[in-house]
Amino acid sequence: MSDKRDYYEILGVSRQADDEEIKKAYRKLAFKYHPDRNPDDPHAETMFKEAAEAYEVLRDPDKRRRYDHLGHAGLNNNGFEGFNSTEDIFSSFSDIFGEFFGFGTRQSGPRPRSGADLRYNLNISFRDAAKGTEVDLELPKKTICERCSGDGSEPGYSVETCAHCQGAGQVYRSQGFFRVSMPCSVCRGQGTIIPHPCAECRGRGVVTVNKKIKVRIPAGVDNGSRLRLRAEGEPGEHGGPPGDLYVVLYVDEDKIFKRQGQDLITNVEISFVQAALGAKIEVPTLDEPVPMEIPKGTQSGKVLQLKGLGLPHPGSHHKGDLLVQVHVQTPTRISKKQAELLREFERLENQKTGQKVKSFFKKVMGE
Ligand SMILES: [Zn+2]
Ligand SMILES: [Zn+2]
Repeated sequence: MSDKRDYYEILGVSRQADDEEIKKAYRKLAFKYHPDRNPDDPHAETMFKEAAEAYEVLRDPDKRRRYDHLGHAGLNNNGFEGFNSTEDIFSSFSDIFGEFFGFGTRQSGPRPRSGADLRYNLNISFRDAAKGTEVDLELPKKTICERCSGDGSEPGYSVETCAHCQGAGQVYRSQGFFRVSMPCSVCRGQGTIIPHPCAECRGRGVVTVNKKIKVRIPAGVDNGSRLRLRAEGEPGEHGGPPGDLYVVLYVDEDKIFKRQGQDLITNVEISFVQAALGAKIEVPTLDEPVPMEIPKGTQSGKVLQLKGLGLPHPGSHHKGDLLVQVHVQTPTRISKKQAELLREFERLENQKTGQKVKSFFKKVMGE
């Protein structure tokens, strides 16, 4: 223990310094090395702890006398080992720090707390996700009790300051050299007591009601999209702000459309004649079907693009595209006359290319 620095030296005061001098010296050091002003500075933290330890001893006439007589050894057998953490220092010196700096280390009553956020899983159809919609949710929600306006006290009566802790919500107990704070057992840390609890909420200040909430779902939302409804979560405590409600969307699959980002994908079937000769067909969209040109000689699997018929980006007017994948159908049943015409077609095709082409017409003919 001989490597410990002298307490008077740490505080920079003489051995004859009076209480006021010691306090002033410590105030200066506590301010200089305060962790708020020296974040992540191990040296400052050491100095801050050292100064606190020195002050803890020298401000107490009994400990100071023992230290004066026996040095550090005079304190050791009393289990005083300094402070382990800056938190220890704040809790032991909360009164002093309050006086020194006026910041909130001295609590008067419980602090405001924000309410919890809530999550609601909502299933919607593909079309509703694409076009946007409005949904009425009904969910059980804790809300401020109207009867007591949330203070938990029956109308006509009032909340009283807890006499046991004087409203601090905490009581201090000396344990050796430390002052340990613990929640007040009379008011359970609230700092207040309610002699006449509200009949509606039994003093809790909140009641659970089924609340209807209208949720506007913007067009173009996707599976897993989250909508945030500000202040629709649980109410805050002791004047804290309410939490938020998050609506998480689960979008059903659609029979006709799939989505890929903001693009819609759909499949259409055309006949091999339409594929070969070209055609004008109708394709489904999110609204009315629209005409689409199939170019001559379209191959099965070809993707045709219809600009701007996809999904909007939520909150914007820009839309994705509709991608139409064309599937050429091979007929499974043909008439005699059709068969004749196809053979004729094949003969002409062979003449043109000068060789026997195993065209898909063979498949048609079942050969
Ligand atoms: Zn109430
Ligand atoms: Zn109390």
